[in-house]
Amino acid sequence: MPTVADVVAELERRYPPTWAEEWDRVGLVLGDPRAPVRRVLCVVDVVPETVAEALDAGADMIIAHHPLLLRGVSSVAPTTYKGRIIHQLIKADVALHVAHTNADVAVPGVSDALAARLGLVDLRPLQPSRPGTPAAGQGRGAGRIGRLPQPLTLAELTRRAAAVLPKTAVGVRAAGDPNRSVRTLAVCGGAGDSFLADAVAAGVDAYLTSDLRHHPAGEHLAGDGPALLDATHWATERPWLDDLAEVLRAAPGVETLVSDLDTDPWTVHAASTAADEPAADDKEPAREG
Ligand SMILES: [Zn+2]
Repeated sequence: MPTVADVVAELERRYPPTWAEEWDRVGLVLGDPRAPVRRVLCVVDVVPETVAEALDAGADMIIAHHPLLLRGVSSVAPTTYKGRIIHQLIKADVALHVAHTNADVAVPGVSDALAARLGLVDLRPLQPSRPGTPAAGQGRGAGRIGRLPQPLTLAELTRRAAAVLPKTAVGVRAAGDPNRSVRTLAVCGGAGDSFLADAVAAGVDAYLTSDLRHHPAGEHLAGDGPALLDATHWATERPWLDDLAEVLRAAPGVETLVSDLDTDPWTVHAASTAADEPAADDKEPAREG
């Protein structure tokens, strides 16, 4: 029977830990490397809901995209949010492994799965891994740039993205002229704010990512950059879990499950229905007295 160490070896062949960013924390988080693994659950986030899913499914191991422990901790007491998760996993003998920025830059990596959902072809990295770093070369890097087989208007592309990405409460929003024609598209799974300048430099028609913020997005649009599409973080990374499951199927004897639990914090959405604010001139003059 394959062990935790066997699964880790398979994952590290595809996503070497040396490819991760310096600030990142990837690899085995907890679990005995000698423990047998029959069933694995792939998740984007290790949160109480996905831990419960793993325990219910009888998984022996969780493979997660986001690190559970990124910054230094001085306690894993079960009175803390993360401590409770750690206690639950150790008590149930469930191992946890993280493949994060090392899976982002890999080919195929997180953004390849996102690009595939949108039907992009002729992919290249949005920000190639820096020469001289362990991940450099062979098309590796953050995000992807590709071509849509048929040009779409921004409005059409936004609807397409909302239809092909995993279902979330919030869907997809876009910034720019709805009639703008989009043929080349940059995508980045996860928070892609920091690659806005790369999308501009690449001269793409639009950039789809998540977690875009008011000021960087506004400044970018004012600079005549690509149109922007903002999906939710989970929706842009969930497509990769299917690739991850394929990698794990290479370890014979391991049953692989993929979590479809939406771990985005945003679970409620209402389209705005308020009446337009009256222009200043239309307002009734304030009555005296
Ligand atoms: Zn992410």
